This record gives sequence, C-alpha cells and structure tokens, in this order.
Amino acid sequence: APASGTARAGLVVGSHGRHCLVETPDGERRICHPRGKKSQAVVGDRVQWQPTADEGTIERVDERRNLFYRQDEIRTKSFAANLDQILLLVAAEPDFSEHQLTRALIAAEAQHIRALIVLNKSDLAELFGRAWERLAPYRRMGYAVLPLSLEGADAPGLAAVEAELAGRTTLILGPSGVGKSTLVNRLVPGALAQTGEISQALNSGRHTTTTTTWYWMDKAAGTALIDSPGFQEFGLNHIEPTQLPALMPDIAAHTGECRFYNCTHRHEPGCGVIAHVEGAAPPSDADISAMRYRIYNELFDELSRPPSY
Ligand code: GDP
Ligand code: ZN
Repeated sequence: APASGTARAGLVVGSHGRHCLVETPDGERRICHPRGKKSQAVVGDRVQWQPTADEGTIERVDERRNLFYRQDEIRTKSFAANLDQILLLVAAEPDFSEHQLTRALIAAEAQHIRALIVLNKSDLAELFGRAWERLAPYRRMGYAVLPLSLEGADAPGLAAVEAELAGRTTLILGPSGVGKSTLVNRLVPGALAQTGEISQALNSGRHTTTTTTWYWMDKAAGTALIDSPGFQEFGLNHIEPTQLPALMPDIAAHTGECRFYNCTHRHEPGCGVIAHVEGAAPPSDADISAMRYRIYNELFDELSRPPSY
C-alpha cells in the first residue's frame, strides 16, 4: 500500500533485533519496524517514521555522522550511531584488558570522535595506584584519564566526569564489575527502571539485559548516555590493517622515521616503530609500550584475514 501522510521525525532510543523504540519530538515512544533493509536503525539514529495502528514503520534513516560495530563470537553488527564520544570505564579492580581498551580507542579514532578513559574505585588506593600507572602510556598519548570513586555519598571525581558529558551524546562502555551500573544509575536516576521498560516493550514482555539503551541526562541541554550491556569488543572489520598506525597515536608518532614509505612496522629494516619498541632509539614522550606493539600486531593479523561469516 502506498504510504499515506508524511513521515515524522524520531530518535531511536532502544533497539533489539530488527525492531526499535522510537521517541518523537514530544516525548512519545513507539515500537517501530524497518520497512526494508535500508531502514534498519540503531540507537542514536534519527529516523523518519509513519504510524501504523499502535506501532510504526521506519521509512528512512537520516544520514549518520558515525556508526559503531560490536563484535560477537560470530559476527560484527552495528549497534549505535551519531556519538560525540565514548567513555571507557575501567577500575582499580577487576584488571582491565588493554586489548579491549585499544580496540575501543581505535574505533573512536577511526570515526574522529573523542574517547575518555575513567578509572573507577580510586578508594582502593593500592590497586588504583597500579592501574593508574598502567594507564600512563595512554595519558602520554593524549587521552584524558579521569579518576573516580563511586563509594560513599561524595563520589570524588563524579563532577568532573559529568562536566565532560554535558551537551554530548556519550556511549558508556566497561567490562563487568567496574561499576558501570552504579555510574549509570548515579548519572540517570531511575535508569534501571527505564531499561526494564524498554527491554519489555521490545521483547513483548520478556525481560532481557541485552538491549542498547539511550538515556537522557538533560534533554534540554542535549546530554545523553548510551549504555550497551554485555558489551565486550568493538568490531573493527571495516578498518584496513594499513590504517592502524594512524589510529594509534603512539605508533603514529614514529612512522615518519621509517626508511620505507609503505613500512608495515612489523619486520622491515630501518623501521622507526620497531626501533622505539626495542629501545634502540632514545626514549621520548611517545614511547611505545611492548604491550601496545603486541596489540598492534594482533590487530594487524586479525584485520588481514578475510572476514568470517
Ligand atoms: P558493573 O558490573 O560494571 O555494572 O558494576 P556494578 O555497578 O554492579 O559494581 C560492581 C561492584 O563494584 C559492586 O559491588 C559495587 O558496589 C562496586 N563498586 C562500584 N563503584 C565502586 C567504587 O568506586 N569503589 C569500590 N570500592 N567499589 C565500587
Ligand atoms: Zn616502520
């Protein structure tokens, strides 16, 4: 049947499988289904939709500023769009994976958006000190690293984190146990109840925790958080291995010293990157840690393989 009436604007605030929850400019929320493959939307998408009886059809997804992919065991899948920044929450404990941290930083660099690292549980002084040191190379590369504690009512560092979020759309990520739910609930009172409602709406009554959710922290100011529970890793399949050095600031700082313009920094003679890793070159602010160089090689191999479906 031909579409009747004109499409309305909406914002995708939740998604599960093919359907999503769309918020209208006046705050109403409705389940919508894509008209076709091209109108499949993710959280953060601006869409044009048409009402059906009590649901809706997404006619069109507005042009995206950026699109992010998550990596399942089996495949990569888009899950969020139009972000201003990514907040990577790690903690004094449990230990964080630099591999996961690096993937997230690369995903942000590839889309030209900012990544902010927040180190939680500063109250666990000794463990915190060690984790803070592990993050030193990231601070030297130019990433903002903020200390935080969510223990106690005063929550040291929280105001500084909130200031970084103001007026922006932020995807918040963190491995389990770092205090992500505690933080989201602190920033968005009632967040837990909201996710429950969105999950229920999208799963016809069943409660799941796999729904990516948009939360308004301050709608008038345009401050929003996107939380994606169970998030493990970014899918980087759309990135060429030869693009990697430019997306890793510590590596990028030394590629100008290589003998060959097309150096892969893996085995070539006269490679500035390898020289720095092996300590042959004088130390500088942009020293590359052995860990980061190992991750570079792992990712280079991963992105050189044909994608598996
Ligand atoms: P999530 O798995 O990342 O959502 O983590 P939770 O918010 O459930 O928190 C995991 C555990 O860490 C809980 O026992 C929290 O009470 C605790 N926790 C959260 N923030 C802090 C903090 O700043 N300091 C300490 N010591 N514990 C915290
Ligand atoms: Zn090189």
